Amino acid sequence: MQKIWGNYSETVFRNCTRPDTDEDTIAYWKNNLFATAVLYLIPLSFIAIIPGMYMALATELYLLFFVDLAAIIAFAVIAFLPGLTIQARKIIFCISIYGVSLALLYTLGSFGPGLLYLLALSIFIVLILDEIYGIVNVYLNIAICALFGVLIEFDLGSSAFTTEYTLAQWFAVSVNLIFLSAVSALLIPKLFNGLEVSFSKRREAENKLQDSVKMLEMKNQELEDFAYTASHDLKEPLRMVRSFSELLKKRQEKNLDQKSLQYIHFIVDGARRMNQLVEDLLEYSRVGRLHLEKEIVDLNKIVDEIRENYQGEQSQLKPVITSEKLPEMEVVPISIKLLFQNLIGNGIKYQDGQHTPEIQISCQENGTHWNFRVKDNGIGIPENYYDQIFQIFKRLHSNDEFRGSGIGLAICKKVVEQHGGEIWVESEASKGSSFYFSLKKS
Ligand code: ADP
Repeated sequence: MQKIWGNYSETVFRNCTRPDTDEDTIAYWKNNLFATAVLYLIPLSFIAIIPGMYMALATELYLLFFVDLAAIIAFAVIAFLPGLTIQARKIIFCISIYGVSLALLYTLGSFGPGLLYLLALSIFIVLILDEIYGIVNVYLNIAICALFGVLIEFDLGSSAFTTEYTLAQWFAVSVNLIFLSAVSALLIPKLFNGLEVSFSKRREAENKLQDSVKMLEMKNQELEDFAYTASHDLKEPLRMVRSFSELLKKRQEKNLDQKSLQYIHFIVDGARRMNQLVEDLLEYSRVGRLHLEKEIVDLNKIVDEIRENYQGEQSQLKPVITSEKLPEMEVVPISIKLLFQNLIGNGIKYQDGQHTPEIQISCQENGTHWNFRVKDNGIGIPENYYDQIFQIFKRLHSNDEFRGSGIGLAICKKVVEQHGGEIWVESEASKGSSFYFSLKKS
C-alpha cells in the first residue's frame, strides 16, 4: 500500500511540479500546492464526488452525474497524462471545478454546495495561478451570476434553481460571491508579492554571504599554503645554523672564552626553539591543508597511546591520566590525536611542580554532538585570557617559565571546528583548568 501511494505521489509531483524551481520562490510553492491538491483530491473524491454521482443517478439528476464523471476523468488526466504543461493542467483543473460548481448550482440551487465550490475555486485560483487569473475569475463569476439571473428572470430551465429564487434574492446572494472573489483576487497576490520581495532579498543576502565565505576560504587557503611553504623552506637554513654552531662549539671549545661559548649556546638554543616553532607552524597549516579522510576511530585507543608516551617519563611527578569510556567516532585520526595530545600535554606542562599532574577526560553524548572535557590540576588561566589563548602565537608565559610556541591551542580550535564543534575553557586560579570541546557525530 505504501509503495502504491509512493509511486502515485511521485507521478503526481512529476507531472504537476517543476523539479528545477528554487524552493525560495512563490512559483515553487504554487506548484507544490497544486500538486498536493491533486494528490489528495483523487482519493478524496471517493467520499464526495463518487457518492454524489450515485445519488445523482438515483435521483435522476443526469446532468450532475455526467459533470462529476467528467471532473473525475479530468483529475486523472491532470495527474497521470504525461506531456501536458503545468499551466494546462491547472486550467483543466479549474474548468472541471467550474463545471461541477455550475452543475451543482443549477440542479440543487442554494441547498447544494455550488456557491461554496465557486468561492473555494476563486480562492484556489489566486493561490495556484498568476494574479491575472484572479481578475479573470471575478469577471467569470459576474458572468455566471448574470447568466443565472437571466435563467431566473425568464424562467428558463426546469431546475430547483430557477423556481427557488426571485431575481432580487439571487442578486443579494450572488453579490457576496463576487465580493469575496474580488477581495481574494486583490489581497492574496499582495501577500505573495510581499513574500516574493523578502524571498529575493534573502536570496541576495545568502549569495553575498556565500561569496564572502568563498573569498575567505580562498584567502585562508592561500595563507595556509604560504605558512606551509615558508615554514618548510625555513627548516633547511635553520638546520644549518644549528649544526654549524654546534660544530663551531666542538672545534673551538678550547680556544673560546666563557662569554663566546655562552653566545654559541644562545645561538644553538635560539635555533632549536625556532625549529620547534617551525615544526608547530607546519603542523598547524597541515591541519588545514590536508583534507584527510575520516575514519571510525576508538578515542580510548588514542588516549591510551598518549598515556603510554608519558609512562616512560623520567620525572618524579609522573602524570596520572584517567579517562571515562570514550566513544568510537568518525573523525580524522591524525587531527584528533593532535587535539588530545595538545590538551593533555598542556595540562601536564602548566603545573607548579609541587604535585602530581592529574588529567581527567570525560565525555557526554548530546543529540548531534559528543561533548568532552579535559580537566587538569594545573596553575589555571585568568578569565580575561579564556578566548585569547586559542589565538595562534598567544602565550601567557615566557619560554623560561614554560617552553612552548603558542600554537597548540590554535591547532585544537582548528581541529574541533573541522569536526563541526566548539572549544572553550573554564578555569580557577591555581586549582586547574577544564577544556571543553564538542565533536559532531557523523
Ligand atoms: P604553548 O603551550 O605552546 O604555549 P598553547 O597554544 O598550547 O601554546 O597554549 C597557549 C597558552 O595558553 C599557553 O602559553 C599557556 O599560557 C596557556 N595554557 C594552555 N593550556 C593551559 C593549561 N592547561 N593550564 C594553564 N595554562 C594553559
